[in-house]
Amino acid sequence: MGAYQDFYEQSLSHRDAFWTREAARIDWVKPFRQVCDFSNPPFAKWFVGGETNLCYNAVDRHLATRAEQNALTWISSEVELTRAFTYRDLFNEVNRFAAILKSLGVGKGDRVLIYMPMIPEAVFAMLATVRIGAIHSVVFGGFAAASLAARIDDAEPKVLITADAGSRGGKIIPLKPLTDESIALAKHPPKHVVIVNRGLDRDMKTLPGRDMDYLALCRRHEGEIVPCEWVESSHPSYILYTSGTTGKPKGVQRDTGGYAVALAASMPNIFDTKPGETYFCTSDIGWVVGHSYIIYAPLINGSTTIMYDGLPIRPDAGIWWKIVQDYKVSTMFSSPTAIRVLKKQDPAWLKKFDVSSLRYLFLAGEPLDQPTSDWIEKGLGVKVIDNYWQTESGWPILSAQPGIEATPRKLGSPSFASYGYKMKLKHEETGKPVGANEKGVLCIEAPLPPGCMSTIWRDDARFVKTYFSSFKDEQVYTTFDWATRDSDGYYFIMGRTDDVINVAGHRLGTREIEEAIQAHANIAEVAVVGVADALKGQVPMAFAVVKDASKVATPELQAAHEKEIMATVDKELGAIGRPARVHFVTLLPKTRSGKLLRRSIQALCEKRDPGDLTTIEDPAALEQVRAAVA
Ligand code: AMP
Repeated sequence: MGAYQDFYEQSLSHRDAFWTREAARIDWVKPFRQVCDFSNPPFAKWFVGGETNLCYNAVDRHLATRAEQNALTWISSEVELTRAFTYRDLFNEVNRFAAILKSLGVGKGDRVLIYMPMIPEAVFAMLATVRIGAIHSVVFGGFAAASLAARIDDAEPKVLITADAGSRGGKIIPLKPLTDESIALAKHPPKHVVIVNRGLDRDMKTLPGRDMDYLALCRRHEGEIVPCEWVESSHPSYILYTSGTTGKPKGVQRDTGGYAVALAASMPNIFDTKPGETYFCTSDIGWVVGHSYIIYAPLINGSTTIMYDGLPIRPDAGIWWKIVQDYKVSTMFSSPTAIRVLKKQDPAWLKKFDVSSLRYLFLAGEPLDQPTSDWIEKGLGVKVIDNYWQTESGWPILSAQPGIEATPRKLGSPSFASYGYKMKLKHEETGKPVGANEKGVLCIEAPLPPGCMSTIWRDDARFVKTYFSSFKDEQVYTTFDWATRDSDGYYFIMGRTDDVINVAGHRLGTREIEEAIQAHANIAEVAVVGVADALKGQVPMAFAVVKDASKVATPELQAAHEKEIMATVDKELGAIGRPARVHFVTLLPKTRSGKLLRRSIQALCEKRDPGDLTTIEDPAALEQVRAAVA
């Protein structure tokens, strides 16, 4: 492992020279005077004094060399449409949208909330926001009104951009009514709502004065050009909410210069993808993978990015491979769950199309099991690269880096640390480094490399407390994942150390789901745990104590009550958080000090040994759980 090892060592031992070289991959209007300011740990500022713009690097700078190349190809199997935008088209679209935002009073540092389906206008909106130095907060279209309202109140956006509706599996999903509901709930509602009316929801209602039609605004601002707002490198580019131990999601705040450099560097080094090649990431713009690898990284790199709206099995399970064939995709990025969905279909689909252009399939977001990895690698005949990262990091923390060296891969392992990440595996209690194959908490020595979160939006104290306070002996960033490292240096991820669960690659806090369930009037107490699932990795399972037991007196009543509670979660959080089952019990397993014994509940659900129960208050509670899941 010569080349990788050298590159990695350089990134740590000659950090400033290393990142100065990588920083030359993007355009700066004013050069930085310091590579990294770490005078106020654990906060790191990268490329201090440098001025740049994310949109400029993703769009404008390519006009000289690739104006007529496709920048964005949007393919929707939902509405059976394809739209392609060259870099020049993208420039025009983004400028017009930037002019619209300016006309609505959005300026540098203001927030713009984007609650949209997977349509090109969402990309224009994001790029337009950063073009004028504003900050976007994209909220996944699957989140419900109450979740959206909480994010509105945290970011206080001036403008909210939405669409009449999205579509999933052929079913129209109206977004505008949820937007209205969330604005009614919010304490700091946006002044304006811009609606991309796709003509999918004919019953859509609008509020004159507040609601603006995107097409009408486009007509008003046709052909307008808005110069990029040059911002200092650490100027926030976006906020993206993610779940943690508490019920309140954290607004991960990202900078501008560090993020642009990290993404620009990752395309050749990790993804081994050249400008002009086609990159296809199957994520959603509402997640970090979508932000980084549908939009910013491929565009900064001068690639053609494919944005796909639809399911992987609709119209048939060959749709993704047909896209690879038709658009000569060289690099794909997806999730293990998506591949497990395809694995349930006829394997002949993998051979039906010419996928010879495809070099790599990167998979991330959740543990990649060996059978899935094997099945797709052999079926397609491409290299599968398991990579591990988080919303907080913005780009891979652990991954093979084939652009530097084609190191051997090990099944079940996301290989090694990416350059810039100084990893530590610490013993949970002592904080001492663990030995080979010994389980520890995966940590990163500060400063975190460029591209990683700068702080939690408007809450520096929570940033320090959440991520840098797990160990007394040193201030390191905690990933909240268990891991081991074998004697060859390969990492293996073993799941979360906190109360976060991973459903189909999406991170959910069990507290969040519990709070959503508690919104139902008849719930006295509830515990939610993540339970292993063959398709989705994990699914939420709820155990509820009701106030009025007569409502769950018979199996029929229980079934009806369970449905009601699931509907409450759909409404409060979104269907994404809906528990697989709600079991009714009369008490929950707790320690004598009142702490929920989540790990024991989870173990019983997975038919494992519940572990040490010496501190349990009432063993009968565990018996109820055992009986419920039997
Ligand atoms: P998110 O912030 O939603 O991207 O979720 C990040 C979490 O997903 C990590 O903390 C891990 O628990 C999990 N995760 C991401 N990638 C992998 C991977 N390649 N293998 C195992 N777990 C992963």
